[in-house]
This record gives sequence, structure tokens and C-alpha cells, in this order.
Amino acid sequence: MLAGHAQALPLRTLPPGALPESLAACTGCGQCVDACPQDILTIRDDAVLLVPEQGECTFCNACADACPEPVFVAPRVMAHLVRIGDDCLTRAGIACMSCRDMCPEAAISMQSRIGAPFHPVLDAALCTGCGACIAPCPADAIVPIRKEPADA
Ligand code: SF4
Ligand code: SF4
Ligand code: SF4
Repeated sequence: MLAGHAQALPLRTLPPGALPESLAACTGCGQCVDACPQDILTIRDDAVLLVPEQGECTFCNACADACPEPVFVAPRVMAHLVRIGDDCLTRAGIACMSCRDMCPEAAISMQSRIGAPFHPVLDAALCTGCGACIAPCPADAIVPIRKEPADA
């Protein structure tokens, strides 16, 4: 029986300034994709998509500057941040600090534990959603999540 098992849709990550509510204005013209020096934007389902696995957003604003439509309505702010999931190697007793080392905001700190490797802890208030920590994670344990008002 399937009733009562609604499945959450995967989060659609957007470039800084674009919000889920403003995405309806996107025509899929691709001008932001061409403008991004980090090559982390693409068009999917006729609208812009940020692919954080491809690299870090530098918040250069080139995408917003190139866009002829009212898509970028929240300047230089991402609608997402990240979460460090249970696949983190430290949970399996393997030492790793790759995400902490890559974060330009010092949003990830390493928490000491007795008899186990240090464990990464994210400060949601400091995370910009830049994605610099995502690709370097050897366990693919870091995923984007929707930013809630309490995270801002
Ligand atoms: S702000 Fe710059 S680096 Fe980030 S997605 Fe837009 S164009 Fe790319
Ligand atoms: S430039 Fe603007 S309208 Fe064109 S694809 Fe990018 S976000 Fe959409
Ligand atoms: S998304 Fe960027 S700011 Fe957030 S934890 Fe990762 S590297 Fe740090």
C-alpha cells in the first residue's frame, strides 16, 4: 500500500539570488550558463539549475548580471545550504577533514570524540551554500538542503 508514503522531491539547487518562487520567470535562455566562470550552471527542464557537484560558486554575480528576466531577486544569497550526512567517513572510524579544509567560511569545525576520529560539525548560520565542500568529500556525504528561515 502506497498511501501515506509521499516521497520528497530532490532539491533543485539554484544560483545565488534565484529563488524557487522566481524560477517561473526563467525562459531557459542559457545566458547565465554561458556567463558562469565556474561552469556550474546548466539548463534542465527549460530552466536554470546549479550543479554544486561540479564546483564552487564564487558569488561573482555574473549569472545575475547576464539574466534578462526577473529570476535573480535575492542578491548573492543561495536558497540552500548543505548537510553532512551519515555517509561521512568519520562515522565509519576513518579520519577525514576534507570538507573542513575546503570551506572558505570556516562553517565546518571538527569535534573531538573519545576513541574515534574528529567529526565534522556544520554551523548552518555560516554556510553560504557555495558547494566548495561537496566535490572534495570522498564519501559523497554532503548534500544541499533547502535553507529554512531559522538558518538565516
Ligand atoms: S555567482 Fe558566479 S560562480 Fe556563482 S553561479 Fe553565478 S556566475 Fe557562477
Ligand atoms: S539567464 Fe535568466 S532567464 Fe536565462 S536561463 Fe539563466 S536564469 Fe533563466
Ligand atoms: S557549502 Fe560552502 S560555506 Fe557551506 S559548509 Fe560547504 S564549503 Fe562551507
